[in-house]
Amino acid sequence: MTVYLDNAATTPLDPEVLETMLPYMSAVCGSPSSIHGHGRIAKVAVEKVRKQVATLLNASPAEIFFTSGGTEGNNMALFGSVLALGLGHVITSPIEHQAVLQPLARMAQTGHTQVHWVQLDRQGGLHYDHLEHLLKTYPGALVSLMHANNEIGNYNDIRRIGTLCQSYGAIFHTDAVQTMGHCALDLQDLPVHLAVGSAHKFHGPKGVGLIYIRGGVQVAPLIHGGAQERNMRGGTENVPGIVGLGKALEIAHRDMTKDGQYIQSLKDCMIQRLQACIPGVTFNGTSADTEASLPTILSVSLPPSDSHDMLVFNLDIQKISASVGSACASGSQVGSHVLEALGADQQRGTVRFSFSKYNTVEEIDYVVAQLSALGKFPG
Ligand code: PLP
Repeated sequence: MTVYLDNAATTPLDPEVLETMLPYMSAVCGSPSSIHGHGRIAKVAVEKVRKQVATLLNASPAEIFFTSGGTEGNNMALFGSVLALGLGHVITSPIEHQAVLQPLARMAQTGHTQVHWVQLDRQGGLHYDHLEHLLKTYPGALVSLMHANNEIGNYNDIRRIGTLCQSYGAIFHTDAVQTMGHCALDLQDLPVHLAVGSAHKFHGPKGVGLIYIRGGVQVAPLIHGGAQERNMRGGTENVPGIVGLGKALEIAHRDMTKDGQYIQSLKDCMIQRLQACIPGVTFNGTSADTEASLPTILSVSLPPSDSHDMLVFNLDIQKISASVGSACASGSQVGSHVLEALGADQQRGTVRFSFSKYNTVEEIDYVVAQLSALGKFPG
């Protein structure tokens, strides 16, 4: 049996999405910037997706810009708003994705901004009082806090964060890469200025994503060299990718309740099986709490054992794909900055299992059996 449980890193392409994309990889060959017929067909396709995506996220089409994915979207939001607005202070948390942490580190290094860290509890929950204190101290800052964490799955209350930001004149950016396509996002209603998504996290193609920039918010372009995306992103558009993103988001919203419940049932099943088979197993963050975390992610903390160093490699030998932390750490036992920030016990082993609509209970049974056999966990 081969089992793919690394869906927070990337999800398999939905065959329906592939089918929709295929004509845009062959027959529809024009560039959306060309004024001839072939170009116009491509342009119409891109603009149709922009409208469709805007409707699904309750935004205006003018607020949606296509990118190459979550990393670019986050870089654009952070560099673009700090540079355009001259923001001298950014408030964030130590458990953001590297696509947020590294651009911020770069801007701090070059003296463009100062970074301030919101305190977290041991479960990865934000101290909202501390956030408010930072907002009071640095009014008009940029706040970058993710919607849900990619390693431990815990949600931030983005409505509460956005409301606080409004009170102190702050700009609020949220990395919604793990939630877009999994949770309904009403961007007109939510007090969010900038939000980022990525198609390959919801069964769309890799290398395409979007950034929502609320009307009236100024962001400088990151990629220069063409007038595409209304002068916000130079470069010929990834037409098949954008078409695939549109189809994937449409399917994700169409099946959101059904798929969400199914995925949650897989996660619940894994929690129960692990608790039954591995004495002393625990879960990082609020990973095992249905209300507080994404159904797609379970971060498992295993009792101390000699075999931890090779855990993900050994699972791989059993044809099980999982990861230690974020995608960049997949397959390696590189320490996780998220678990470190939470003060997790380094003697324990961690495996992040992440689920999709394509997984089954039989796969969960197989994985738990293999994991218990590998661990030789003391009772
Ligand atoms: N942000 C989060 C929370 C993620 O999980 C990821 C992907 O792992 C990214 C950003 C980067 O997205 P992409 O792979 O589309 O560049």
